[in-house]
Amino acid sequence: MVSPKLLDLLICPKCKSEHLLYQPEKSEIVCQDCGQVYRVEDDIPVMIAGEKDKL
Ligand SMILES: [Zn+2]
Repeated sequence: MVSPKLLDLLICPKCKSEHLLYQPEKSEIVCQDCGQVYRVEDDIPVMIAGEKDKL
């Protein structure tokens, strides 16, 4: 699990939105404003726009 305090601090690097939705069952964080998906690796959010699309 990503700590709620850490999630609180995160913003979407793509659109600067704070509206990020953590989906623990998928190990993903989705930006609710621009739809960008970020991976969570070993409970560390990988906040790089476009990262997921390369995989
Ligand atoms: Zn965004």
